[in-house]
Amino acid sequence: MDDLTTCVLTPRVSTEGYDPLGVGVHRASTIVFEDAATYAARGKRGPDGYSYGLYGSPTTRTLEAKLSALEGAARTFLLPSGQAANAVALLAFLTAGDHLLLADTVYPPVRDMALSDLLRMGVAVEFFDPVSLEDLESKMTPQTRVVWVESPGSTTMEVMDLPRAAAIAHAGGALLGVDNTWATPLNLKPIALGADIVTEGLTKYVSGHSDVLMGSLSLRDTGAAEAVRALMGRMGIGVSSDDAALVLRGSETLGVRLRHSGRVALEFARRLQGRPQLARVLHPALEEDPGHALFSRDFLGTSGVFSVVFQPDVAARLPAALDALELFAIGASWGGTRSLVAPMPVSDYRSATVWREAEPVLRLSVGLEAEDELWADVERFLAALENATRREAAR
Ligand SMILES: *Cc1c(COP(=O)(O)O)cnc(C)c1O
Repeated sequence: MDDLTTCVLTPRVSTEGYDPLGVGVHRASTIVFEDAATYAARGKRGPDGYSYGLYGSPTTRTLEAKLSALEGAARTFLLPSGQAANAVALLAFLTAGDHLLLADTVYPPVRDMALSDLLRMGVAVEFFDPVSLEDLESKMTPQTRVVWVESPGSTTMEVMDLPRAAAIAHAGGALLGVDNTWATPLNLKPIALGADIVTEGLTKYVSGHSDVLMGSLSLRDTGAAEAVRALMGRMGIGVSSDDAALVLRGSETLGVRLRHSGRVALEFARRLQGRPQLARVLHPALEEDPGHALFSRDFLGTSGVFSVVFQPDVAARLPAALDALELFAIGASWGGTRSLVAPMPVSDYRSATVWREAEPVLRLSVGLEAEDELWADVERFLAALENATRREAAR
């Protein structure tokens, strides 16, 4: 064989006896077929078959299988981000003339997508108060096709009664979709509580190291799976095996990371309660939280993300005080090893409810640093906040 040809062909070596614990990173756009007839019939290989790189590799299927097992789902699809999973979930199930009901506390990009793209495509979009299922029930119409929620709500952490929301949605012929990014499939099982669609921002806890973007869309049953898969194919959406391998590696330590961050975050939330600069600590695992009863009933554990609301005169001093932090980094996203804080606007993203408390609300994500050093950082921040408030008062 000419060297030029040898350079191009991949020699086949034996994989016999090679049995690693992890899955291989299978990189491919092209998949080759043994003959023309097999190629012609590639569309009939079914959801588990391989036909083209975009539609899955052994690496991505492995992550999908792990997520389906954790979610109790019939089928899971991987997407390039958590928000892509939310967007595809809505696009796949809605059409012109349909009515979409969104919890007022959904992830802001979901709200934006509904109000720009879905509205433009002829979907009617309405919001409801996530803590008043009477509000949800009263807004259901014969055209309502999807009820989309997040529990606890983004930033403000309201817990929803998911089994009741599912019953209301199903009674009206609609599907219930749940963005489960905060809890992860370890701490909440939306499908067991009645959800039809579950999305996860794998970018956060499941991957766990702030170095990859990915999302998942899981379905209660296989009925709609082919439609979702076909839509993703038409839109050209898939993920790389390299990225899936990173998420698979991160997922192996999800349990211990989440348990640690959850415990430390709850401890910090308890210590922050009653600090004079704070109006409220928003964390559903606190006994005093309005969502605590539902949280205890439905959740299997807590995550390391919670928020604090400041006294109105204190909130304005927040930016300067944040600069005093040495370990907590300032940044979007969360769920990695590094602790993060992010000042969040709220009232701009509410339409069925009114946010009357101070803004910005500070969201904290507790990572894996030494607990006492992290708490010292919180104290440093609170002292800087106190000094800034005092300086302002002395003027
Ligand atoms: C971050 C987040 C997402 C999106 O995840 P990306 O992978 O960053 O797109 C979706 N839902 C919630 C609740 C989130 O916090």
